[in-house]
Amino acid sequence: MENPLTPEVLADPVALTRALVDIESVSLNEKAIADCVEEVLRVVPHLSTYRHGNTVMARTDLGRASRVVLAGHLDTVPLNNNFPSTLRGDLMYGCGTSDMKSGVAYALHLATTLPEPRYDVTYFFYEAEEIESRYNGLHLVAQAHPDWLEADFALLLEPTYGIVEAGCQGTMRAVVVTTGVRAHSARSWHGVNAVHGAGEVLRRLSTYQARRVTIDGCEYREGMNATRIHGGVAGNVVPDRCEIEVNYRFAPDRTPAEAEAHLREVFADYELTVTDCAAGALPGLEAPPAREFLAAVGAAPIGKLGWTDVARFAAMGVPALNFGPGDPNLAHHPDEHVEISKIRDGAATLHRWLAPA
Ligand SMILES: [Zn+2]
Repeated sequence: MENPLTPEVLADPVALTRALVDIESVSLNEKAIADCVEEVLRVVPHLSTYRHGNTVMARTDLGRASRVVLAGHLDTVPLNNNFPSTLRGDLMYGCGTSDMKSGVAYALHLATTLPEPRYDVTYFFYEAEEIESRYNGLHLVAQAHPDWLEADFALLLEPTYGIVEAGCQGTMRAVVVTTGVRAHSARSWHGVNAVHGAGEVLRRLSTYQARRVTIDGCEYREGMNATRIHGGVAGNVVPDRCEIEVNYRFAPDRTPAEAEAHLREVFADYELTVTDCAAGALPGLEAPPAREFLAAVGAAPIGKLGWTDVARFAAMGVPALNFGPGDPNLAHHPDEHVEISKIRDGAATLHRWLAPA
């Protein structure tokens, strides 16, 4: 295949977005796009380029006082009659336009056209963000080459519609169990109905007063919800067990241990098992490169509600923010698109921030 990422394409973030969208890269099929990205980075004299699986990393070594990461995932969710891209007025449609090849285009454009950024920059183009964590390129690099991720600040170019989204909330899944005594439903007074017992668990959830927490000016809004319920034995049996799956989304001022303690407090009199947890990330607005980035954007950040890879950086002590041109509401949507003017605005912002004064 001829590499579509020509110098003319790399020079224009809009053309570059489109070229990247038109290289199909559904999760676990990133080899072709990673090959194209690696090939153009390898020949850039101001970068050292490395590869791990289908994750490509390139970095400057200019001896600057700070190092920043710009990161984007190369994979997309499965196609949905939205490949290749199409243009309609100011809108570019196609799988990955919003999430997140427009963001990847920023990183690749800057990597190849900005020889002397104000900070040393590490550019990451990583695989498999849209599927289970064990395939995630940043996760794999953190295991194999943790030094690649060392930085003072990281910017994830995920879709935020041009707004800075700071930190992210944590997520915890747990199973709350109600128990009873099995009996024939014809003589139900001999039993204790565990499904009825679930009523009290659901009442606590439906009346739960979720916290709204402001950290560094960013509001995080928690939520605790039943997401699934299992119970029952047969149509004529009083059930002795019911399991309510609960998902708790918690603000980043709580650690996973504190989130678990809170869940156990809410359901103090029940059996509860935590099945999955991912820590949140504090907003991370204090690092000097972060402050300078916010100044270049010129608008206040908001709290990120969903979990993102910023938490991976936070776990390594690297403050991180999300910033990208796509509309997050259109990610994973069959009508996924990005506004071309938003791509240009964001590219100009990143230039203001990274280009030498
Ligand atoms: Zn994404």
